[in-house]
Amino acid sequence: MRGASVGPVRIDLHTHSRASDGTQTPAELVTAARDVGLDVVALTDHDTTDGWDEAAAAARDVGVALVRGTEVSARSRGVSVHLLSYLQDPEHPALADELARARDSRLHRAQRIVERLARDVPLTWQDVLDQARDAVAVGRPHIADALVARGVVPDRDAAFAHLLASGGPYHVDHYAPEAPDAVAAIRASGGVPVFAHPAADARGRIVPDRVFDELAEAGLAGVEVFHRDHSPPQRERLLAIAERLGLLVTGSSDYHGTGKVNRLGENLTEPQVLDEIVRQGTTEVVTA
Ligand code: AMP
Ligand code: FE
Ligand code: FE
Ligand code: ZN
Repeated sequence: MRGASVGPVRIDLHTHSRASDGTQTPAELVTAARDVGLDVVALTDHDTTDGWDEAAAAARDVGVALVRGTEVSARSRGVSVHLLSYLQDPEHPALADELARARDSRLHRAQRIVERLARDVPLTWQDVLDQARDAVAVGRPHIADALVARGVVPDRDAAFAHLLASGGPYHVDHYAPEAPDAVAAIRASGGVPVFAHPAADARGRIVPDRVFDELAEAGLAGVEVFHRDHSPPQRERLLAIAERLGLLVTGSSDYHGTGKVNRLGENLTEPQVLDEIVRQGTTEVVTA
């Protein structure tokens, strides 16, 4: 514990803005982080760094520290894997080229999902564009928002329960690199790779223990253990894996604005862990 006059440092290392599937602009998100009393927030939109500049300007304005990052879509043996990249050089092609390829594939894949859905429900590609607005990484949440706007489903959750389910009849995958290659690309770009919500088994298939060994071999730095989608037994399992492989342990909200129930700051990361991420990273933390 720190002295009472300073208070504990509150660090949330995983959030989304409208650059991907969050519902707030990067500036609104950073302001919201300050308003709930966070000292440090990381912006980690899916497959893009598009929100970084706006978030950095807002962080300086409102007086919150900003860790710039990206949640990188990847796959392991066909299972979707999300890797948080912190503080990479956004210009380095090793990661930037992979992200560009994923974004391009996301766009075409979303169009194909809409074509399939449109056979059975009232939905057009323009409906999705109206929801995605300034998003550069288009995802199923934008299609969900279009279905809500059309009155087909009440909310994003209901859309994912059937119409947008990964195993469902309308689903199409997008391109994503193999997870060890993504870890290597993050490291090559000077970023710090952390495995996001690796045990969120209610949302889809999860990877077995040996994948952590593979990723550690490829350069994985840490594991996001404290996340609302992890049950207590899964947290215990992940803590044991992190201990065995010498990986950092993080906790985060995975906040998406009103797009999910997750609240900013609902899980936090220890200051010593952030210090180590900063030591390993390339891009500096934005401070007020
Ligand atoms: P995509 O990346 O396009 O395949 O869409 C997956 C994204 O949808 C994830 O990053 C989640 O943020 C979001 N998502 C998944 N399930 C739900 C849900 N039940 N409600 C709201 N958002 C969800
Ligand atoms: Fe998301
Ligand atoms: Fe994720
Ligand atoms: Zn996320």
